[in-house]
Amino acid sequence: MMCPYCAFTESNVLESRDAEENKVNRRRRECLQCKKRFTTYERVGNIDLKVVKKNGRVEDYRREKLERCFEKACWKLTEEERANLIDEIEMKLLNWESVEIPSREIALMVMEKLKNLDPVAYIRFATVYLDVNSIDDFEKLIIDYKKTNK
Ligand SMILES: [Zn+2]
Repeated sequence: MMCPYCAFTESNVLESRDAEENKVNRRRRECLQCKKRFTTYERVGNIDLKVVKKNGRVEDYRREKLERCFEKACWKLTEEERANLIDEIEMKLLNWESVEIPSREIALMVMEKLKNLDPVAYIRFATVYLDVNSIDDFEKLIIDYKKTNK
């Protein structure tokens, strides 16, 4: 189970709790490297979170939306690889300070994943989610990308 802060893969389980009603196993862990604590949820179906859209509307979090988004953006990956990416994002979401998460934050998490995987998919996704409407903005996006990925 990867640490959401430093990506180290070993952690101690401090506390474990089974939540029968939603079939999620909750574990409190401590990273062996950075010592930060985080919570993991094993077997994550549709996790109980709310997404706050740009227009202020609140809707239920749906894993399918991320699945579709990754399917479109990185069709080169296997289904399992995509599922792992989503699991990592969901773990961050579950460790978010509130159960209501701005959609923009989720988009940024997706972009962070894409950035390392596939630059073209990253740029394509970013143009949609960052409201890039002009060639100048588009150019800036690519320049920023190149700056941070040398
Ligand atoms: Zn860590």
